[in-house]
Amino acid sequence: MSSSVLIIDDSVTVREQIIRTLESVELFTRYYEAEDGLEGFKKLLSSPVDIILCDLEMPRMDGFKFLSMLKSRPELQDVPVIILTGRNDRERKVRGLDQGASDYITKPFDNEELVARVRVHLKIKKLQDDLKRSNELLLELSNTDHLTGLFNRRYMMEALEKEVQRCIRKSGNLSLILLDIDHFKQVNDRFGHLQGDAVLQKVALQLQKELRSYDCAARYGGEEFVAILPDSTLHESVLVAERIRLAVHGTAYSGPLAELNLTVSLGVARFSQGQCHSIDDFIKFADDALYRAKKNGRNRVEIHNPEDLKS
Ligand code: GH3
Ligand code: MG
Ligand code: MG
Ligand code: MG
Repeated sequence: MSSSVLIIDDSVTVREQIIRTLESVELFTRYYEAEDGLEGFKKLLSSPVDIILCDLEMPRMDGFKFLSMLKSRPELQDVPVIILTGRNDRERKVRGLDQGASDYITKPFDNEELVARVRVHLKIKKLQDDLKRSNELLLELSNTDHLTGLFNRRYMMEALEKEVQRCIRKSGNLSLILLDIDHFKQVNDRFGHLQGDAVLQKVALQLQKELRSYDCAARYGGEEFVAILPDSTLHESVLVAERIRLAVHGTAYSGPLAELNLTVSLGVARFSQGQCHSIDDFIKFADDALYRAKKNGRNRVEIHNPEDLKS
């Protein structure tokens, strides 16, 4: 794996000694040098590194200013900085550590100590990066429906709450589409549960395809899906629902599912502050419309309150 270091010091001799020392143990594949904080910061922006060794006293921009610049960039905050200090620099060592440095090395430094400290901080950085990745993965998994890859119901409820708040704040538009596959039990009975799963995956893709990037598609449960459409009028949302219905209806399955003629029913509701007192009300409105779509023959879109189309 490639790793890189940035050495910031106004002394060429110091920089060379550090590079020679680190090269001798082959810790890095890339070495970047800068002669003051400003040059270092510019290099960092174009080439991210795994660790920084930084002198404190330098012309133009010193080490303290460099540390405060780093703090202002969230993407750079996790890069460890080891400050290079003079022997009698107790106060400045403390100040540097206070300002976010991970460690210090006293000049003139011992080569072995330099390598040992760099190793420790690379190891901590790697552990932190691994932890961050694991946390991101966990968060993603906890928000995702494992079969379809869409958001799950838990995430959808959170997203809906946020969108409702935003809609109230901005007096904007917000619609909800609830989709239920028609006679899905028969799909399982005829083709088997595994094929049923494949159908759910296909419908999830078709739903996602008709939505914009800022809409939210989720699996609400079993063979029911939901789409949250922020900034969409009821009219626009009904058109989207109709497109989804047609996409599903128009799909010719092949292989074991060749005989399948799948349809879906959809209910659409518009958020109305006067009528929806909770997100449960809002979902109930879409669910009522869905129920009507089923009752009126399936493979159709119904609107909670068609009168809303006029407003
Ligand atoms: P309707 O048109 O009234 O909606 O009829 P339906 O058969 O679709 O509705 P019903 O609620 O009777 O059946 C839903 C079926 O969905 C029953 C259940 O076994 C199936 N199901 C739920 N989750 C899954 C899943 O993850 N995979 C598969 N293959 N089937 C599922
Ligand atoms: Mg200096
Ligand atoms: Mg159902
Ligand atoms: Mg169903």
